[in-house]
Amino acid sequence: MPLQPFILEKQYRDYIWGGDRLRPGHSPTAEVWAIHENNTVIGGDYAGRLLTSIATELGTDLLGTRVTTRIGSHFPVLIKLLDCNQWLSLQVHPNDEQVRELKGAGFFGKTEAWYFLDTVNNAEILCGTKDGVTKADIVRSVRDGTILDCANRVPVTTGDHVLIPAGSIHALGPGMLVFEVQESSDITYRVFDWNRPASEGRELHIEQSIRVIDPGIRVNVSAAPINSPIARLESCEYFSLDKLVPEDSDIIAHPAGESFHALTVISGEASVKGDGWSFGLSQYDSLLVPASCEEYRIEKQSGCELLRVTA
Ligand SMILES: [Zn+2]
Repeated sequence: MPLQPFILEKQYRDYIWGGDRLRPGHSPTAEVWAIHENNTVIGGDYAGRLLTSIATELGTDLLGTRVTTRIGSHFPVLIKLLDCNQWLSLQVHPNDEQVRELKGAGFFGKTEAWYFLDTVNNAEILCGTKDGVTKADIVRSVRDGTILDCANRVPVTTGDHVLIPAGSIHALGPGMLVFEVQESSDITYRVFDWNRPASEGRELHIEQSIRVIDPGIRVNVSAAPINSPIARLESCEYFSLDKLVPEDSDIIAHPAGESFHALTVISGEASVKGDGWSFGLSQYDSLLVPASCEEYRIEKQSGCELLRVTA
């Protein structure tokens, strides 16, 4: 019996900077963890199991050959939706090599990508450093709290997307709903917190930040592709992010054993069907299609848009 796709129970994070769009009636909701190794499967043969345990058991059949060749039977990405109503702290993440030096084998760095689902007028993010900023500028400005002078401040609008490699400073601004995919890692260094009072768990990580910030990395926000049923938005060695728009015809997809497909509906509703299975998905629902699944079909539907993560 071939594997069938999984629906995972969403997890919510109610941070103070959240809003009311991700979980109506429960405000502030800051984050939805849509696909994560510690999410529980809803329904089917694996109901009640954690994704991490299924990944260990099924290995390549779930994850695909690219993932297991690179890192073994470990679910490699975390997919979140974020409802931001204040500036988030300016952060940086170490890369895989730095994490191995700091914490040993089995830990990962964090490269992430953002897709802007909805933005207010004049929405902005911080991503990367301005041209000409040197490591000496970083050392000085992180220590004396003037790092904003070195940060690239960029306007964003709905449909834009950006890849944030490990070593790049970044912060989401107020008035945006964001889809985020990242390497599954929780190592975050807080570089600057807008001079908010330092409370438990919100301290700055000055020395660690200085160590990992790389002012040589360029970070570029790109605009949404126009009128393309399948478009690759971002790609790196850890994951790829595609936008699927089955508006004019069905989209046929096939994981072909290489990678799982993590689908998230970002607009409208989607009907996804394969051999012996079918799922109806609402906006912000996700579906995890195992790498060993045969060809499947996302049915033509007006107003339907999805994001697809592969690894
Ligand atoms: Zn981050």
